[in-house]
Amino acid sequence: MKILLVEDEIGLAEAVGSILKSEKYDVDICNDGISGLEAALTDQYDCILLDIMLPGMNGLDLLSTIRVKEIETPVLLLTARSETEDKINGLDCGADDYLTKPFSMGELLARIRAATRRRGIVHDINPKYGDIILDLKRDEIICGSNSVVLGRKEFQMLELLISNAGQITTKEQFMNKVWGYNDESEYNNVEVYISFLRKKLSMLHSSVQIKTRRGIGYFLDGAK
Ligand code: CA
Repeated sequence: MKILLVEDEIGLAEAVGSILKSEKYDVDICNDGISGLEAALTDQYDCILLDIMLPGMNGLDLLSTIRVKEIETPVLLLTARSETEDKINGLDCGADDYLTKPFSMGELLARIRAATRRRGIVHDINPKYGDIILDLKRDEIICGSNSVVLGRKEFQMLELLISNAGQITTKEQFMNKVWGYNDESEYNNVEVYISFLRKKLSMLHSSVQIKTRRGIGYFLDGAK
């Protein structure tokens, strides 16, 4: 899986690049719009992470240019908080999604997976938390030498909990992201699936626990 990162803040580009590499992505970094465009036009990437304010050529012009040339690589825009207008323009220009700086690496990795999965690009990067790994190909949780298969909803819920590690995932977020709609009368379903997940984690003797924040949602605990 090959990623192009176009970002002129050198420190940020290097930090993001090294984390992506540690997650086993191949990463090329460009620090200006012109070299970013040249790289994107080679059409060898599975995903492009694109800053908007860039020297040489801005991110939105770069995006429009590659879409005109029929390069359909998924593009995630990296935007500053003040650039709301640019986000809307960016989606109009053919961006798949955007992330507002500062973003967590967990969120970035989850968005890369989501954007590329929508395009049918196969993943070999499995989300991890504490002593568990989610196997995206087999829909399993792996803990040491043990594994257990998850149902589709259980899998998506655990993936969401991992991508939100360090924060609470609300019942509303589970409904929106896993069920695809939000209906308070079905919040019991979220509780039911959380109890299934807890049973599976304890079957695996994992140190990871799903904790409840009463009336708000759930969070993972147990990473060392
Ligand atoms: Ca910039």
